[in-house]
Amino acid sequence: HPTAMNYCSHCGAPVSLKVPPGDNLPRHVCDRCGTIHYQNPKVVVGALATWDDKILMCKRAIEPRYGCWTLPAGFMENNETCGAGAIRETLEEAGARIELGPMFSFVDLPHISQIHIIYRARVLDLDFKPGEESLEAVLMTEAQIPWDEIAFRSVTYTLKAFFEDRRRGQFDLHTTSLSIPVPDTYR
Ligand code: ZN
Repeated sequence: HPTAMNYCSHCGAPVSLKVPPGDNLPRHVCDRCGTIHYQNPKVVVGALATWDDKILMCKRAIEPRYGCWTLPAGFMENNETCGAGAIRETLEEAGARIELGPMFSFVDLPHISQIHIIYRARVLDLDFKPGEESLEAVLMTEAQIPWDEIAFRSVTYTLKAFFEDRRRGQFDLHTTSLSIPVPDTYR
């Protein structure tokens, strides 16, 4: 299911949705220059950064999920490693400098063609403040996490896995695939 596209980004002519020869999925193909505009999943990278027993959380100042809480995370840039992206996003959204630890969660979201990757990290100093995309950036204990106001299911999954691992004293890599929730009537 490609995202809608009307015009070729190379030559400006209209594009048509069709299966190119030798392919098996519909693509946007330029009617004039023939360029095939492939679309592939996007990668979101972020950090679960701790200070003592607290987690660095951001309150979103942008849609989607304005006003809800999330871990600092965002889309990878071209020519960037996943880890560098997580550090950059944490600096942009929480104004916080971190030391990156191991990859902690890897979440497939096939229905929106995204992959969310969260690293464990350590907050290096308390001199941080929210960036333009955040209303607040705060350190929270487990008891302070507003579970009903978490912006994304991948963040809820990551936080729950983190607290469970911390309780048992061993951190593993957690992977899952989250798809569209099945309505109750179909269960
Ligand atoms: Zn074109």
